[in-house]
Amino acid sequence: MDISKRTQRLIWALWVVIVPAGMYFVYQFAPPGQIDWPILLGFTALAVLTTYFPFKVAGTTIFLVQWINLAIFLKYGVFLEMLVMQLAIIPLAFRLKISYSDFYRALFNSFMFFMVSIISGISVILIGYQVGSTELKDIILFGFIYQIINMFTNHVILYLYLVVTRQENEGFFGTDTLWDYAGLVVTFPFGIMLYLLNVHVGPIAFLLLGVPFLMITFLVRMYSNSTRVNDDLNQATEIGHKLADVVSSDAIIDLFLTKINKMLPVDYSYIIDIKEGNMMFLKAMEKNIDIEIHHTHEELIKSIAGEVYKKEKPILFNKHSEWRNTNLDFLPYDAQSIISVPISRNQKMEGILVIASRKKFAFETYQLQIISLLCSYFAVSLEKARYVQEAVSKSERCALTKLYNYRYLEQQLELDMNDLLNGKLRQLSLLMMDIDRFKGINDTYGHQSGNDILYGLARLLEKECEDYGTIARYGGEEFVVILPNFSKQQSLQLAENLRAKIEATPFEIRTELGDQQQVTLVNITTSIGVSTAPEDCDEAMALIRNADRALYIGAKREGRNRVAEYVK
Ligand code: GH3
Ligand code: MG
Ligand code: MG
Repeated sequence: MDISKRTQRLIWALWVVIVPAGMYFVYQFAPPGQIDWPILLGFTALAVLTTYFPFKVAGTTIFLVQWINLAIFLKYGVFLEMLVMQLAIIPLAFRLKISYSDFYRALFNSFMFFMVSIISGISVILIGYQVGSTELKDIILFGFIYQIINMFTNHVILYLYLVVTRQENEGFFGTDTLWDYAGLVVTFPFGIMLYLLNVHVGPIAFLLLGVPFLMITFLVRMYSNSTRVNDDLNQATEIGHKLADVVSSDAIIDLFLTKINKMLPVDYSYIIDIKEGNMMFLKAMEKNIDIEIHHTHEELIKSIAGEVYKKEKPILFNKHSEWRNTNLDFLPYDAQSIISVPISRNQKMEGILVIASRKKFAFETYQLQIISLLCSYFAVSLEKARYVQEAVSKSERCALTKLYNYRYLEQQLELDMNDLLNGKLRQLSLLMMDIDRFKGINDTYGHQSGNDILYGLARLLEKECEDYGTIARYGGEEFVVILPNFSKQQSLQLAENLRAKIEATPFEIRTELGDQQQVTLVNITTSIGVSTAPEDCDEAMALIRNADRALYIGAKREGRNRVAEYVK
């Protein structure tokens, strides 16, 4: 809804040049006749109350004020009608929570109402309406023409405004305008009635017509408010279901924030993680775009999120002045409304959600509750994702070395081999590694020390070749590395580097000597067999077999601590 500073200035200029002077001229040319003050006050009160309590139907805010200005015009002419309408803008501005920075919107409304009043009023007077007429035929005819011109002028100006400010619009005849014209059909007879009743019974007319009208307005408002709560609850339920369907933590976090951003008028959103009393950002979004921000725990604890953490209670702020005193905040300077809610599981706070809007009064209390509810869905979904991830990783990793297990290796090798056969890979190599005389190490230092070495070797392999391919524990003290797009020559080179590195690395083992733990350094050597597809074979299992053969025949038999390639 932002419009350029230039257009804003243009609106200011238009208003300053046209409205005050225009009012003065209208007063000069068409002064109000005798004024019946109680009735005028009654009209003003009714107009002001009607604009202060508009209602929403199907997402459109409707101000049914036309019937009142029709009656005012019929009775008092252009000037007073214009004046009352200008007064009615004040509650409108409050209702729409217009702040100083978008004051131009109130000015635009004022300008538009002015134009509408003057064009419709003067036209009807020019074609012969006598202000204060008691001729029923005149009242209905001119009243109707007045309402049509009134509505049409309003419609044209609003349309031009949307076009000039390049805002989204539904074309000249959108849903909003249709509602307005429909409203006219309903309110026109009321306007005529209000006028006639006033003529005949005076201020009692307000009791007879104004009060029931306002009551209906209230009822419709209450109904549409409950519809909004219902809509939000429905959306929240849907988000809850979607969260439950996702099993990756990252996807859950993404989904959670983007859905909340869609459901509420959110400009900035943050999830803060709390681990062992330490706060840090998990995800931050500004206007639906991920951003990187870094704040220390010490900074965060002083922020609004810190308040929520310490008090263990959600908070809702409507505008910046309500939270100004919370210093050192990570929120952008133009944030106004804020909701911040603890994300808890089993009575333990695991994180904090902060959402903010640049609008004042953007969130309502019931929305705070819905967000709290969503946060517990979120926490539960994250926990479920953690369990699933743990189960998956258990099924594909070896418990001792944390490397992939044989099952995973088999699957991965099949996939890589398919890629090779489909032309996605040019070559595929495989290293098979076996520790030399490992039984001797077990015999000398014990089985547990043997395990320490297997673990240490796994870490060394990760460090050296994780970037090149998949590392798996093939069995006992045998390891496999799958190397996509590695030629035989490159693989032999990598294997040789590995062999040399292992030979030169002392591995730590912990031995118990009586009550004391002792750290000993042990050196090991390895033998490695290398095989490459497609030159050696074109089948996953054959690639393993070939590497194994190279390992035993070419390396072990030839004296160990060496690398050998498969030869047919
Ligand atoms: P080489 O391979 O050089 O011929 O001699 P080696 O002593 O390594 O012989 P082999 O491969 O036959 O023996 C493997 C040994 O590895 C046997 C077993 O005690 C040991 N081993 C296998 N799995 C584990 C394990 O998980 N932990 C420990 N500590 N030892 C293991
Ligand atoms: Mg061995
Ligand atoms: Mg072995």
